[in-house]
Amino acid sequence: MLFRSRRQFLKASSLGLSLLAVDRSALARRLAPSNPAPASPIVISTWDFGIPANQAAWKILSQGGRALDAVEAGARVPEADLNNHSVGRAGYPDRDGHVTLDACIMDEKGNCGAVAALENIDHPISVARLVMEKTPHVFLAGEGAMQFALENGFKKTKLLTPDSEKAWREWLKEAKYKPTINVENKLYQPVDKLPGNKLNHDTIGMIALDAKGNLAGACTTSGMAFKLHGRVGDSPIIGAGLYIDNEVGGATSTGVGEEVIRNVGSFLVVELMRQGYTPEAACKAAVQRIIDKKPAKAKEIQVGFLALNKKGEYGAYAIQGGFSYAVCHAQKQDLLIKSKSSY
Ligand code: ASP
Repeated sequence: MLFRSRRQFLKASSLGLSLLAVDRSALARRLAPSNPAPASPIVISTWDFGIPANQAAWKILSQGGRALDAVEAGARVPEADLNNHSVGRAGYPDRDGHVTLDACIMDEKGNCGAVAALENIDHPISVARLVMEKTPHVFLAGEGAMQFALENGFKKTKLLTPDSEKAWREWLKEAKYKPTINVENKLYQPVDKLPGNKLNHDTIGMIALDAKGNLAGACTTSGMAFKLHGRVGDSPIIGAGLYIDNEVGGATSTGVGEEVIRNVGSFLVVELMRQGYTPEAACKAAVQRIIDKKPAKAKEIQVGFLALNKKGEYGAYAIQGGFSYAVCHAQKQDLLIKSKSSY
């Protein structure tokens, strides 16, 4: 830059200094202490049901096992839990009565696999891993995903349990569902008005850092209860429901998937961590992005992000209160933390 006078030069440099000062304070905010980093290995996952899931992952991590194996084993726990109506078998069905499952997995090398709208197969996370390891593809959906699973030794399983069917029939009465009537907006009732909100949706998103310092993540769900048939949320979408970058960290999400997809939420969290944000600050900024774009709608819905960085520091943030996450490392295997929230 050319300065025509000394005065002009001084003016420009003092402006530069004040910009620098602003930048410094922004940087300090981002670098504010996060949760202390316990030595790896460590595994974190969404919601209270993350505790038993983490414990399964911990069996592998504590013996020097690979983060990828740990997150798969961990995610399988809520998938198999018949009392869990938002993940795997016993998940609530869509509005037509079909249980359709979404899942994805990502390893330390950036490999990933995903399945969406998968029916009759009880461990979608393991099918996602096979897509990653046995095919040149990333994502299989619907019939094709089921066919692939059956060809690879999975058994057809009835996913709709009596409890889930009962809940669906109750919902049908209230929704007065007819195929011609659009009831999708019922999915987005204000969080505090949803009957048994915790059970209507909730995904397990899990991120692990193993003893070798490698990261992996898994995300699995039955999605929004009573969703439109064919609806796929954020959970199986790499970058939305889950993202891992072995140089930086990993992130996962839960809540209204459409808003997470629109903002490529988990990728955003990881990219913010790359810029120096702590895991919690990165999750908070991603939540704020959603709120800023649609303030009125954001007040009514829940989205939560959870992140772990390469140093083993973790953090979370949600639009609404009530989002919990589970942490497991050498000092404590069943830590449950309530995330901070915007409202
Ligand atoms: N994110 C999931 C979905 O939109 C649901 C949830 O985690 O609550 O399908």
